Amino acid sequence: MLKRLPVTFWATVFVAIVCLSLVVIDGWRSLNARAEVLASAERATANLARSMAQHADDTIKAADIALADIVERIETDGTAPQALERMHALMEEQVRQVAQLQGLFVYDATGRWVVNSRPTMNRSLNNADREYFVYHLNNTDRGPHIGIPVVSRSTGKWILPVSRRLNHKDGSFAGVALATIDLEYFREFYESLDVGRQGAVGLILNSGVLVLRVPYDDKRIGTSIVNSPLYHAYVRSGDSGTGYFTSMQDSELRLNSYRALARYPLFVSAALSREELLDGWWRDTLLHAFGVLVLAGLLALFGRRLIRQIELRLQAEKELTQARDALASLNETLEKLALQDGLTGLANRRQFDVTLGNEFNRAIRAGTSLAFIMIDVDCFKQYNDMYGHAAGDDCLRAVSKTIRMVTPKRPGDLAARYGGEEIGILLPNTDLAGAMAVAERVRRTVADLLYPHGGSPHGMVTISAGVAALAPERGGDTPAMLMEMADKALYVAKSMGRNRVCSADNCGDAQPQARTDYHI
Ligand code: GH3
Ligand code: MG
Ligand code: MG
Repeated sequence: MLKRLPVTFWATVFVAIVCLSLVVIDGWRSLNARAEVLASAERATANLARSMAQHADDTIKAADIALADIVERIETDGTAPQALERMHALMEEQVRQVAQLQGLFVYDATGRWVVNSRPTMNRSLNNADREYFVYHLNNTDRGPHIGIPVVSRSTGKWILPVSRRLNHKDGSFAGVALATIDLEYFREFYESLDVGRQGAVGLILNSGVLVLRVPYDDKRIGTSIVNSPLYHAYVRSGDSGTGYFTSMQDSELRLNSYRALARYPLFVSAALSREELLDGWWRDTLLHAFGVLVLAGLLALFGRRLIRQIELRLQAEKELTQARDALASLNETLEKLALQDGLTGLANRRQFDVTLGNEFNRAIRAGTSLAFIMIDVDCFKQYNDMYGHAAGDDCLRAVSKTIRMVTPKRPGDLAARYGGEEIGILLPNTDLAGAMAVAERVRRTVADLLYPHGGSPHGMVTISAGVAALAPERGGDTPAMLMEMADKALYVAKSMGRNRVCSADNCGDAQPQARTDYHI
């Protein structure tokens, strides 16, 4: 069934497949590009989070080292004025050297200021209300404690408190040593990171309190993000991870990478806006889609024209074939007309002459006998006179039909209208006796027609035939000789009373029996 579909159908299918392939391939390429953009963004945010975590860890560690030193000295040297003097100098030096350190402080067991890194100190101030102070008062562990961000009482700036507990020799609470880290230090670093226009980075305590976020907004410092999807993900994974979360702060959907600090109970988050990430990809995809659609459109247009051309060509070919067939059949008819006699349907004189020439030569070459029977309707002039010319034609047609039926059908045998009412039969490879038999059969069959003929002594249409046969020899014999011999024999048949078959030396008898005789 497929084979029967026209070529234009397949051409259409082909063009459609090419157009569709273009679209599909570009769509596939675009999806791959999108996946690649997102994958590389994931790697970028994960790397950024790793750097930020390392940075925060190192920043706090530096403060903590200074703090551990202070604790060790206070607990060893005590708080005598001289020792405090040395401590003050040491603290000043530390703060000068460690950029992120905003200040170093020591409070006694009641929260009063004992010594710090400031040039002057107001001893009347008390920090017993601070979160870190309460923490150390109630917890005996000696490790560092990261407090919630607060506004410094001494400078009015946002600081991250890192503190350690001071103990008396007996292990009872002796106060708190505090290092404050300037949040500006983090802010400057975070703002130097390139996270695009919609990106965000942040430092968060494990308890869910936001230490700092960039884009910077000081109103957000110290707020809780425990209800954010980011925090939930962090609590679930416990260390690091990546995911798409909608920000609690500005409702932007971002690709977030978060990572816990190695040594301190905080984590960082680096986030890139999903929309911004895919901005370039969208531009690229739209441009490609436009290009592909234009290309597919042009292809379809071109394909349509091509298919139309094929259709026209096929149509022309079909018409040409039809014209050729018509011409061939016309030629055949013309050929037939040129070789056939119009009245009797027998071969005409032209065909007869050509065939006679051919067969005569063949007989010479093969050394075979060629026979010829010359037939003439008896008293035909009278028939015309009695019944009219049209009836004469009908009679001639009937006689011809009979002769055609009786003539042998071997190749080369040919019955032709030789003259007006004379018909010749050419019989190649036939001797005189064979030709006589054929002629007699013709004569008898015509007579058997009992075609009425009032002007004939037999009362019906009869024929006479002259028969000749010749094994022609090269050089001596000619076709005309054969014709002449037959003609002479015919003359003899006529002169002997008609309705008979004669050869040069033999004449059959006339057999004017009644019709019934033939059927016995
Ligand atoms: P015979 O027995 O001696 O042959 O007598 P005949 O009258 O047949 O004499 P002949 O053969 O000489 O006459 C031929 C006649 O046949 C002449 C013509 O009127 C007639 N004839 C020849 N051709 C046609 C033809 O195509 N149609 C008709 N109707 N008559 C024809
Ligand atoms: Mg005649
Ligand atoms: Mg005649």
